[in-house]
Amino acid sequence: MDCKHASHLVSQAQDTKLTLGQRFSLRFHLMLCDACNRFSRQLALLREAMRQASLNIERDEHIRLSPDAHQRISLAIQSGRQSIVDAGRNPDQHSTN
Ligand SMILES: [Zn+2]
Repeated sequence: MDCKHASHLVSQAQDTKLTLGQRFSLRFHLMLCDACNRFSRQLALLREAMRQASLNIERDEHIRLSPDAHQRISLAIQSGRQSIVDAGRNPDQHSTN
């Protein structure tokens, strides 16, 4: 296995499960090749950092939501529900008239 193939498998392993043969030859290459070993670890770190970053963004959005914005959203949801209830009522009113 050359480095090109190894690095391809390293990134492929992030998204899909490698076959036993692929894992075996990749592990063997990583034992012998410093460059690919580093690449593999950096990719794992990068992936973890990206996962953390996306978690932080989600958390930040909750923090950034001011009480005022929170109330407006709640009102919008309530009025949305109310209009659905009203829309459901209208046919009844017509039928009784
Ligand atoms: Zn290599």
